[in-house]
Amino acid sequence: IEFDTIKVGEVSTAVLPSYRVLVLPYFSQASPEETQTVCAYVQSGGKVIAFFRLPEELCQLLGVSLGPFLQDTPSHPFYAARFAPGELPGLPERMVQESWNIFTAYPTGNTRVIGGWVDAAGADSGHPAVFANDNGFFMNHVLTADEARAKSEFLLALIGRFVPEQWERSARKALGDFGKGERFTSVDSLRQRIRSRRAAGGLAPDAGTRAEQRVDEALALKAVAEGLCVEGKFPEVFAKARSASDTLTSAYYLLFPSRDEELRGMFVSSPNPAPDWKTVCQTLKACGFNAVFPYVGSAGIAHYHSQSVPTSPLVTEGADPLAECLAAAHDAGLKVFAWDNLFNVSDGDEGFRARMEAGRRLVPGVTGEASAYLCPTQPENQQLVVDSCLELVQGYAVDGLFLDYLRYPYRPGSRHCLCAACRRTFEAERGAPVANWPQDVIKGELADPFNAWQQQTISARLGGLRTALREARPGLVVSVAVFGWPDARKNVAQNLSAWLDAGSVDLPILMNYTDSASFFSKLAEGEAKEIGNRVPWCTALGAFSHAAQFASPVPLIDQIELTRKHGAGGFVVFKLNHTLLSEFLPALREGVTATDARLPAPRG
Ligand SMILES: [Zn+2]
Repeated sequence: IEFDTIKVGEVSTAVLPSYRVLVLPYFSQASPEETQTVCAYVQSGGKVIAFFRLPEELCQLLGVSLGPFLQDTPSHPFYAARFAPGELPGLPERMVQESWNIFTAYPTGNTRVIGGWVDAAGADSGHPAVFANDNGFFMNHVLTADEARAKSEFLLALIGRFVPEQWERSARKALGDFGKGERFTSVDSLRQRIRSRRAAGGLAPDAGTRAEQRVDEALALKAVAEGLCVEGKFPEVFAKARSASDTLTSAYYLLFPSRDEELRGMFVSSPNPAPDWKTVCQTLKACGFNAVFPYVGSAGIAHYHSQSVPTSPLVTEGADPLAECLAAAHDAGLKVFAWDNLFNVSDGDEGFRARMEAGRRLVPGVTGEASAYLCPTQPENQQLVVDSCLELVQGYAVDGLFLDYLRYPYRPGSRHCLCAACRRTFEAERGAPVANWPQDVIKGELADPFNAWQQQTISARLGGLRTALREARPGLVVSVAVFGWPDARKNVAQNLSAWLDAGSVDLPILMNYTDSASFFSKLAEGEAKEIGNRVPWCTALGAFSHAAQFASPVPLIDQIELTRKHGAGGFVVFKLNHTLLSEFLPALREGVTATDARLPAPRG
């Protein structure tokens, strides 16, 4: 689809009339003048596809009336939009949104509702989702990145309603793209790859044959699409051509060996993930995964029953998401590593943070304001961390703890923490005051000694925590999030070598979030060298992270292969979403996780 982007603030009567359809992904920041411009565009025949909050005049033109705002609930009633059959050519049956809220909205005039909100099981919420009239379409939430395939079909169907010839263009493009994969450029190059992978060995006995069969199936589907093209049935051509390309790509996924021993984990950042814990755990297991890393909170918030840390509203109301996770995971045969953010209390409630700030227990920011991070130097903060972790392992049958933020905050160009307690403690240890605080410890002659002292502090924190945890639960696996970048690791005072020497970590997980395979490989190579054969270790793969958003399973497969090449004991994927669960994991199961794996045994 040919398109241009116009920023809010640059919408003018000079540019709009040259476009046939205007998509408004988020128009709530528009000025009254811009709203008038868009209304005039619609009144003179322009068409609009609009999302979420809209100015009243535009709502009237689209024939919708906005009501109150509604939040998501634990049953996830706005999980997907489902469309009535036959509403528009090419419209998907359902598209996953995982919407966290909606505007209630009602049709007025001749406007029709063409889709409604449903939960993951398909139960109707009773709330409409998508509205249509002759001026355009409206949806009462933003279009999320989930299920990109269905999203593209949805947008094409809507645009095709007003620009019918777009269907032919998109259909011919989809046919033309057949054979162009991310790691192959033609059907012949894929066939060549199948032959070389078969020759290299290590694949499942029938994988090569099945891959050849899928190439044949894909070519047959493409021939059907070409026939439909002659008949001018372009929405059908588009669907069939995509299906042909999917089948071809699925042949590629078969070309990777699996392993018998490997940790395969998934980070789950929501205590109450969609669709529900049971489905999540069973899907992970069915795709060859053997561990789940549920987020349980920090020293500032507990998504579990706690006496030492303020509990989240869900828990206060009586829910126990960690117990649900444990039941579902253990039932499915998955190990559970409770993921705790320790000193990072950014999602703790305001009352807690205000108390910590009043007690000067938070790391000061660059300009001196308090951050949402407990200073790891201070003994009372360490005590809070130890108490909350002990509660976790005493109250819940977790198999391990995954300790995140066991470090100082990362602030390039500066050094943290620089609180009064850190200064006092550092000066006491070296037996002399710092003449120019904090310049001397940031870039001056005391920078290295200060960093060494910080590293010792963090190492002592981990040592103390692990001893307490192992006394409470002898078999517990203590896993720690370790910065992958060696420079960054030094800056936040994580001395992995010292931890390994002291025997205070059972399972280091190296956070190698990147979309570059070569950089990933370089990091893993250094990590393998540093860790040696002392403990099993894992890479964390940032499929959906601040550093990367994988568009397909291909980069994930690449990083899993590199993880193995460098001798790691497994990988943990960041972080669960619908795309991973429904698209990426089934692709891994075709090859790279085709057989179930046991967890790596402790070494030494
Ligand atoms: Zn401090």
